[in-house]
Amino acid sequence: MRVAFLGLGAIGTPMAVRLSRVHDLTVWNRTPAKTTAFAAEHKARAVPTPREAAKGAEVVITCLPTSADVESLLSGPDGLEAGFAAGALFLDCTSGDAPTSRRMAARLAPLGVAFADAPVSGGTNGAEAGTLTVMVGGDAPTFERALPVLQAFGKRIVHMGPLGSGDAMKAVNNTLLGVNIQALAEGLTALVAAGVHPRLAVETLNASSGRSFVSEALIPDRVLTGAWPVTFRLALLDKDVGICLRLLDELGLPGSLLHEAGRRLHQARTELGEDADYLAPIRLEERRAGVEIRG
Ligand code: NDP
Repeated sequence: MRVAFLGLGAIGTPMAVRLSRVHDLTVWNRTPAKTTAFAAEHKARAVPTPREAAKGAEVVITCLPTSADVESLLSGPDGLEAGFAAGALFLDCTSGDAPTSRRMAARLAPLGVAFADAPVSGGTNGAEAGTLTVMVGGDAPTFERALPVLQAFGKRIVHMGPLGSGDAMKAVNNTLLGVNIQALAEGLTALVAAGVHPRLAVETLNASSGRSFVSEALIPDRVLTGAWPVTFRLALLDKDVGICLRLLDELGLPGSLLHEAGRRLHQARTELGEDADYLAPIRLEERRAGVEIRG
């Protein structure tokens, strides 16, 4: 299938690599050096504009920081709209927001372009391994068309419901991730300060009822080892939590715990900067408690 991929970032790159193995792939990135480097290393064609990417593509996939970034690629002489062929399918894998997704879908429908929000979960490792969870919002025929393409990088591909429901699912998921990160930071630093060995604390927690994905996968691999890789920017997690909190507001729900977690995460982003990893708030907590969760 002729597929175009736009956005060769931390997660977009491994997703595009997997697509390049099974589809006729065209790539575009805002910084062109990344596009040419990708095409030199993988089976893909590099193009200089979003319009060129959309031209002749049966499926166009975007993975940018925000829905607003994706929307900005639609218009203008070099924009996607100038290149789309009628009958094309547009899948936005950005962790985006439902109102913008619905607006883009309405704008593209008269061009004969079907749209679905299709954010992903599973991290850069999951993208490399092709084991991402993909949360799709859109009508059933669009989901059926999207499925074989998403299978290049997704393992569990779920039709969540109408347009925007993939965005909602992803935003709530990541907000819960943010809650778990901060809760574990507080709980584990308390245990270490109380004299419990960090590894013993994590292992015991993971054999008990307080465990989570953060305690089972992230803390052992990245925190106890002292590796602290940067794979997902805290700024993007903060953006996801913002989307979830706006959804709560729209629904008239208080969500006071989630609001508090969001406030703390946003504060950590301000302190740590735009390039910090999403687990870095744990380091802030370590500093506050004067301990290290390492060993
Ligand atoms: P990065 O910050 O690593 O990369 C962002 C990409 O978007 C880059 O290719 C960048 O181009 C491009 N970009 C940024 N702004 C614009 C713009 N205004 N117009 C065009 N291109 C733009 O992000 P990730 O790859 O980590 O994340 C992408 C999306 O996937 C986000 O929505 C994120 O929340 C989500 N996600 C990320 C995960 C992860 O583990 N990293 C996990 C699950 C979801 P340039 O090279 O020019 O800077």
